[in-house]
Amino acid sequence: MLDYDVVVVGGGPAGCMAARYAAKGGASTLIVEEDAEIGEPVQCAGLISKRALEESEIRTSRSFINCEIKGAVLHSPSYELMLESPDQGAFAMRRAAFDKELANEAEKEGAEIFLEGKVKRVQKRDEDKRLTITTATANGEEKIRGTVVIGADGVKSIVAKMAGLTVTKSTLNCAQIEGEYETEEAFAEIFLGKRIAPGFFAWAIPLGAENHARIGLCIDKRCSSQPNPLLFLKRNLVEHPIIAKRYKGTSSRFTAGRIPIPVGTGWRGHNTVKADKEGGIILVGDAAAQVKPITGGGVYYGMKCGKIAGEIAAKACLTGEMELLGEYERRWWKEIGKEIAFGLKVHKLRCVMSDKDFDTLLHTLSRGDLLRQIRRMGDMDYPAGALRELVKNPRLIRLMARDILKYLYTKQR
Ligand SMILES: Cc1cc2nc3c(=O)[nH]c(=O)nc-3n(C[C@H](O)[C@H](O)[C@H](O)COP(=O)(O)OP(=O)(O)OC[C@H]3O[C@@H](n4cnc5c(N)ncnc54)[C@H](O)[C@@H]3O)c2cc1C
Repeated sequence: MLDYDVVVVGGGPAGCMAARYAAKGGASTLIVEEDAEIGEPVQCAGLISKRALEESEIRTSRSFINCEIKGAVLHSPSYELMLESPDQGAFAMRRAAFDKELANEAEKEGAEIFLEGKVKRVQKRDEDKRLTITTATANGEEKIRGTVVIGADGVKSIVAKMAGLTVTKSTLNCAQIEGEYETEEAFAEIFLGKRIAPGFFAWAIPLGAENHARIGLCIDKRCSSQPNPLLFLKRNLVEHPIIAKRYKGTSSRFTAGRIPIPVGTGWRGHNTVKADKEGGIILVGDAAAQVKPITGGGVYYGMKCGKIAGEIAAKACLTGEMELLGEYERRWWKEIGKEIAFGLKVHKLRCVMSDKDFDTLLHTLSRGDLLRQIRRMGDMDYPAGALRELVKNPRLIRLMARDILKYLYTKQR
């Protein structure tokens, strides 16, 4: 039987980063990944900030970058707002290549990778205080023992289920293609509207190569009578006044996926650790619903929390003090908890807004003082700061009053 200090289930950004830091901390570490190749299949638009790239600590050539993104154009049904972000820096990237680089870095620290092993069960600690993982492989079942198991197995996490940890309230349903598209230079485009992407937004991310983009959307099925995002994507490609005009009809790399909406009730309610006498389990990344509810981005938070998870798991294994795992929850919540909690409120407000509200909002935001404020404070990884300042503005309070009331009286979902 394979035997390690730390077993990481899932070889995405969160898992690779957790494994890298566990190995760096001196723990024997294994990543178990169900797919045959790290990074495939891709379920991502590939938009990442410069800060997130720095967080990845990848020092080799940036072979995975498609192009630099200079800002975003927000489209409501009748308005548009251009937000340049010259200082911030963002990139469109090839996720598969990025994930492979992260896995290489984990291996350099000493972590091993077991591919084509689908984890089916995690059994509670035995008398040696070890957990046993049962994995389905092409040659039958393989059992692996570990002192700490890190569940980095994405939005449908089997590790979370086995541990009885609930972190996800609901999921966004997403669909995306890559295709020929007349891009807005190096600007990402965001499309808001009930008919376009109920409860979330649609996007077009330029890929640098001439006239090529990732075109996709997510919907919150709680705000839509139709839960299938593909129907919205097909309609946008044919009917949306901007998307349909720019889309040239070819498509490749179809992706469907989900993004978790966190329960977000504070670190005592958002349970990502099981450290009682049966456990030794930590959740990280999408498995822990560590995503930005406003944009759905999860790569940066997943890597950030992966580092903390790996570091603490190694410390707990080497000292034998499993109660140290509790520190994980406090540390990651301190880093991104407030962003998640505030982001959930904004997401819920977005769900009750009408198309007319989106138009009025963009029109109001395009006024000089507010626009300058967004440009100065806007931050794609930590949007709460700028939004908190904006909602203090009397003009916006008046504008949003009806939606805020609707939000307050909407049944808690
Ligand atoms: C359409 C779409 C677009 C997105 N765009 C962006 C974006 O532009 N920017 C951004 O930051 N985020 C984006 N996201 C979110 C982002 O992709 C995720 O937040 C991120 O991948 C989470 O990383 P992770 O390591 O937690 O999980 P994942 O990347 O999902 O990795 C989990 C890994 O676990 C493996 N696994 C699952 N179950 C098992 C099992 N039982 N046994 C073994 N292995 C298992 C999977 O094969 C997978 O490799 C997008 C998501 C979607 C759906």
